[in-house]
Amino acid sequence: MSSAPVPTDPTPSDPDEASAFADLGLRAELLAALSALGYEEPTPIQREAIPPLREGRDLLGQAATGTGKTAAFALPLLQRMPEDRSGGDPLALVLVPTRELAVQVSEAFHRYGKDLGARVLPIYGGQPIGRQLRSLDAGVDVVVATPGRALDHIARGTLRLGNLGTVVLDEADEMLDMGFAEDIEAILEHAPAQRQTVLFSATMPARIDGLARQHLTDPVRIQIERERPVAGEAPRVRQSAYIVARAHKPAALGRVLDVESPTSAIVFCRSREEVDRLTETMNGRGYRAEALHGGMSQEQRDRVMGRLRSGTADLLVATDVAARGLDVEQLSHVVNYDVPSAPESYVHRIGRVGRAGREGVAITLAEPREHRMLKTIERVTGQRILIDKIPTVADLRTRRLALTQAALRESLLEDDLEPFRVIAESLTDEFDLMEVALAAVKLAHEATLPGSDDEAEEIPQVAVRPAREGRPGHEGRGERRGPARPRATGTVQVFVGLGRRAGVRPQDLVGAITGETGVRGRDIGSIEIADRFSLVEVPVGVADEVIQGLRGSTIKGRKATVRRDRDGDGDGGRFDSRERRDRR
Ligand code: AMP
Repeated sequence: MSSAPVPTDPTPSDPDEASAFADLGLRAELLAALSALGYEEPTPIQREAIPPLREGRDLLGQAATGTGKTAAFALPLLQRMPEDRSGGDPLALVLVPTRELAVQVSEAFHRYGKDLGARVLPIYGGQPIGRQLRSLDAGVDVVVATPGRALDHIARGTLRLGNLGTVVLDEADEMLDMGFAEDIEAILEHAPAQRQTVLFSATMPARIDGLARQHLTDPVRIQIERERPVAGEAPRVRQSAYIVARAHKPAALGRVLDVESPTSAIVFCRSREEVDRLTETMNGRGYRAEALHGGMSQEQRDRVMGRLRSGTADLLVATDVAARGLDVEQLSHVVNYDVPSAPESYVHRIGRVGRAGREGVAITLAEPREHRMLKTIERVTGQRILIDKIPTVADLRTRRLALTQAALRESLLEDDLEPFRVIAESLTDEFDLMEVALAAVKLAHEATLPGSDDEAEEIPQVAVRPAREGRPGHEGRGERRGPARPRATGTVQVFVGLGRRAGVRPQDLVGAITGETGVRGRDIGSIEIADRFSLVEVPVGVADEVIQGLRGSTIKGRKATVRRDRDGDGDGGRFDSRERRDRR
């Protein structure tokens, strides 16, 4: 890992000047929901997108997962929901690339709109259609859908778009990558011409521009990576990131802290709620953590800072707002428990270490979907963030032994050991000198580092593929039949025991893979669909992850047999369904 200078913003903003959600003109029910969730201030994309969206403007936003883009479009939509609406066709349609995102976005709508009684329905392939039909029949306000299933309902006449006031295309680049272009066009044709259209995309390739030109009217354009932070005095900060699934984050944080053994660290979370939850979890795991957020009185905050300075606590878990203006001299590590919502915020956070010429360490835990946000931060700061592997139990053991060895070495060099000579001598009457030394090392090891690494759990690694320009394989949504191209080097084919007869389409497979793993749509190669099975080409390095992910999920509502394709390289990737059937 290398040390790199990091530009700092010389004038961090004052918390009192921060534009709060109330300044964005949101209604009381939404403000109450946001406060209950512990959101302290809008993210940059929310600050910029909410006012024009409230006014009904079209919007073209470049924003990746992790920027708070979901609330940026959900809050203004909820703001404009009429009260006490019963029955009726949806007023808003949100199109998303995967079912996982459909569920996540619906949940976000529910969280923000719970006091408004907004009826939000996710519809996606793989879920029984009957339940969706009943809910659509009963009337909904917002539908969050994958394009394929939305079109299916439109064709059946069960999803009627005549009342739509707003259409949101979320993660539009991913939808195009997955071959949904035609579906999106067809859906938009059914929507009223007089509507608001909102498009969010992490990247802005020409195809997205084309889509925007065709379907958006005089849109407001928002790009969160517009400005490069001003280069000021440059702290020396080693920057790294770990890609980890949400469920494993507390364990991953503990592991990283154990291996890094910081003098004192600050862990940044997005919301008050997360700060409280994480502080409790980390204390439960034996760390001395203190919470610091905007919901605390000045007196409480002073007490926390006192405990950190005196060394009674060694971990400060804080929100950005609470940590602004904080001056802790001895901080050695900054940990981003979540990827910050904007590059500027990342720069502010990591500027807290590496002061006065000392080297600091900045660590970011990112969920697989937030990988793009790391890339954005790298681009804006012009600094490399090294993606590291989460230390394994063996790494932890090695590190702990190294610490014990260092402690013993120091004792040998510095301490007066004479008072212990008598013990060593009497034991050597009975035991070999080496054995005596080993027992002493064991006791020292256990005494200085409580907690056995035997109890430590292995934390699953999530592989993330680097972005690739252009994408061979499933451009367009049609299934490719007949002979396949020769397989690209470094890829394997994964066999999935469901095919055309189960209604499987390429986008179902891509959706399942991108939803369940850190693999992106563009990294998946050719997809071949036979009557009873499908073959998906993926990079060798992620094959196991893809297999595990698909085994843990359903495709078209069904569990499938998933494994590496047995026929391997034998036929150069030629596809002959009859032959394969015979061989099985
Ligand atoms: P998104 O980029 O929409 O996927 O959001 C990323 C995460 O940030 C989600 O877990 C949200 O709950 C959270 N979030 C969104 N806006 C805020 C905010 N203003 N303050 C704190 N957390 C937020």
